[in-house]
Amino acid sequence: MIEKLVIADRGEIALRILRACRELGIRVVALHSEADRDTKYVRLAEESVCIGPAPAAESYLNIPAVVAAAEVTDASAIHPGYGFLAENADFAERVEQSGFVFVGPSPDTMRIMGDKISAIRAMKGAGVPCIPGSDGPLPEDADEVFRFASNIGYPVIIKASAGGGGKGMRVVHTEAALINAWQLTRSEAHAAFGNAEVYMERFLERPRHVEFQILADTHGNVIHLGDRDCSMQRRHQKVLEEAPAPDIEQPLRESISERCVEACRTIEYRGLGTFEFLYENGQFFFIEMNTRVQVEHPVTEEITGIDLVKEQILIAAGGPLRYTQDQVEFRGHAVECRINAEDPTTFTPSPGRITQYHPPGGPGIRVDSHVFNHYVVPPYYDSLIAKVISHGADRQQALHRMSGALQEMVVEGISTNIPLQQKVVGDPALHQRPQDIHYLERRHIN
Ligand code: ADP
Repeated sequence: MIEKLVIADRGEIALRILRACRELGIRVVALHSEADRDTKYVRLAEESVCIGPAPAAESYLNIPAVVAAAEVTDASAIHPGYGFLAENADFAERVEQSGFVFVGPSPDTMRIMGDKISAIRAMKGAGVPCIPGSDGPLPEDADEVFRFASNIGYPVIIKASAGGGGKGMRVVHTEAALINAWQLTRSEAHAAFGNAEVYMERFLERPRHVEFQILADTHGNVIHLGDRDCSMQRRHQKVLEEAPAPDIEQPLRESISERCVEACRTIEYRGLGTFEFLYENGQFFFIEMNTRVQVEHPVTEEITGIDLVKEQILIAAGGPLRYTQDQVEFRGHAVECRINAEDPTTFTPSPGRITQYHPPGGPGIRVDSHVFNHYVVPPYYDSLIAKVISHGADRQQALHRMSGALQEMVVEGISTNIPLQQKVVGDPALHQRPQDIHYLERRHIN
């Protein structure tokens, strides 16, 4: 068993991981930058280590500093959270080579999933449906690129194999724009990721984002924990998530989740993982796999009653899954709103001191947040300050509970996106049916 665990992330997820460790009787070492010294999780942790100055490149992304902190505190495991190093295979490898347990999949699996072309190949091989496309890197020859695009059919999207965070992709609507877009994406990919490899897919015009959560142990057991709809996005960033994904035929849902489970068996996946799909006209298309805990994991926890972070740590410690597929029951509906320190109309970040903080409460409401009265939101990191999660017997109740919670919530001294979330949660069109990934920007922004 793991006795002492290093948390190599910050903010709400650091506190979330600490809470799981409390239940498991694991002692915690919180790592922090100079800007995060006065945080709740640092105070609550048994030990803490300052790993560098505020800029993430000098602290949270500093692999030698993170590993050294585990060494000096004599910890046995490192949890990478969801940001910074969480999907960095070199980091995972370094952690394992230094003799620590990495709470996540093997570095080899992370490498395959970190490269989009190899991830798509692995998924296709395992029978997971993918978007019609070039099935590999685009050749150097312009004529062949034209041929690929006309076979796939316009509009197409050109994507960097090494891309991430919504960067390194370009939509092409006409043949006239193809070669320029192809060359631009290649040079951008080279500059941003050191890898000019790009591929092509059909561009889906109005898809939803639907993802499946799986859990796999090191003994060959794999289960799925259902799906989530994360279509409410701004600039490819999720704003509101819900589980289960509404309006999907049960047989289709089951068949896709079974394929995800099968794919995990094929690639010998271990730990928590998410298969992300675009869903359009009743069809699922795989886009990528996330090999870490996700920001939106609480909606799955609310409908299954399973603590994903605890299970993730137990699996990393070598334990067998504690649930069979038959034991996973889905109850009701859950919604999560991400509360960001940002202007609700211009989206400029709004760091600074929180002068008043009153989180909401009541039946079916959960708040995951590291902030408190007089907490200072630092300007260096992402702007997520809280996640409000509502659970209800059905979607309507979950949305209504969320409306009430957002009304109750007070965050003063800084700007937040609560007003935007109120508009989204109160939107009759969203109540009526789930919307596509461009809806939020079309309807609620500008
Ligand atoms: P990243 O790793 O950068 O997040 P993804 O491959 O997950 O890249 O794509 C990010 C987003 O870009 C998707 O959520 C979707 O909104 C859009 N996108 C990607 N591929 C397509 C496609 N073939 N058709 C339509 N939209 C797409």
